[in-house]
Amino acid sequence: MDTVEWTRFEELPIPEALKANLARLGFQEPTPIQSATISKVLAGKDVIGQSQTGSGKTAAYLVPVIARLDAANPAVQAIVLTPTRELCVQVAEVAHDLIQDTGLRVMAIFGGFSLDIQSAALRQGVQLVLGTPGRVKDLMMRDRLDLSHVRNFILDEADEMLDMGFLNDITYIANRTPKVRQNILFSATVAPGVKQLINEYMNYPDHIEIKQATRTADTLSHHFINANGPEKDSTIRKLLSTLKPGAALIFSNKKQAVSRIASAIRGCGLTIDYLHGGREQDERMRIMRNFREGRIGALVCTDVASRGLDVLSVELVVNYDLPREPDVYIHRVGRTGRIGEKGMAISLVSHHDMAILRRIESHARIQLTPYPGFPASASSNTGFSKRPSDEKNSRRYKGHRRQSGPRR
Ligand code: AMP
Repeated sequence: MDTVEWTRFEELPIPEALKANLARLGFQEPTPIQSATISKVLAGKDVIGQSQTGSGKTAAYLVPVIARLDAANPAVQAIVLTPTRELCVQVAEVAHDLIQDTGLRVMAIFGGFSLDIQSAALRQGVQLVLGTPGRVKDLMMRDRLDLSHVRNFILDEADEMLDMGFLNDITYIANRTPKVRQNILFSATVAPGVKQLINEYMNYPDHIEIKQATRTADTLSHHFINANGPEKDSTIRKLLSTLKPGAALIFSNKKQAVSRIASAIRGCGLTIDYLHGGREQDERMRIMRNFREGRIGALVCTDVASRGLDVLSVELVVNYDLPREPDVYIHRVGRTGRIGEKGMAISLVSHHDMAILRRIESHARIQLTPYPGFPASASSNTGFSKRPSDEKNSRRYKGHRRQSGPRR
């Protein structure tokens, strides 16, 4: 089948019920990723879609996949794997909306639900299965899920699935679907692991990449350092004593931790103070004035306390903890890299933070890269020997190498 030219969903060669469901959802014109993907998938091509959550990627693969499902056949014909239950539920909601009045059945499979209930529902006949790799594999190993009639194999957020260690489960599942099938892979990044998946399982895929503008300053670079609990204090001390920023903000999620962190990082060569909502108003005013006038080099603070610092531009923002909300990250790092100045944001992360890190990357349309010079684990860190030499002796740290930027 050749790809079709189209500008509105109603022009697509898809079932009328699906068009009506799209209209009910208010989807009339496609988003860029949908416009580029849907006719290729309808034409039977393997597709790699590189775009973020929020771009309309779910419908980009669900619409053409659902359009080709056969309601008269009770076998599972398409499977979508997602890294988390949250994404699985989100995709399932869109799928449910899209299959109204089509006679098709959809099922979401993820841990935490009774295997028996899920198996019973599968026996009724389900054409589209959405699931997390672990639970899907589990049901397959118990012979309760048969994927031998699958025609569409879809990996959503493939990079995240690999980061979460699902490679073996994905391999197990893929190897038990027919060799001749159509593959669709969505991923925000195409790192080497994802490339390997593509090489192994996809058949001359078309690569569609939708670039979005970042939501943070272009002059700002974003990094992360792996550090857990007690390692965080020593990591920050080393960072500050090496970078010697003119002004740095260190954000903590917890008000109770702020003064402890400030004490723990003293001795890094900068004057340290801390700010949280519990400090007296006149004390807060004095600290802000001192920070503004350069008498405090690094200020440890909470998000609430930092509001009064909105107008300040700093050279370095450190996230002692990653905020739970992506918008808070954008707000925090907005203090640096202002008006064309270079700035840097460094986040200390543990392996528990990977999901929120990805959400921040996706939402802010940025990529956090490992901070150069740090080993993977801060516990074995011996210093910053790899700093560019031109920065070495500067009191005010400027001109670090840009390591990251908008996601490609
Ligand atoms: P997604 O990236 O799939 O999570 O979609 C992001 C949001 O865009 C969801 O709230 C969708 O309901 C909405 N959306 C997706 N496609 C369209 C479209 N063609 N027109 C209007 N809204 C859309």
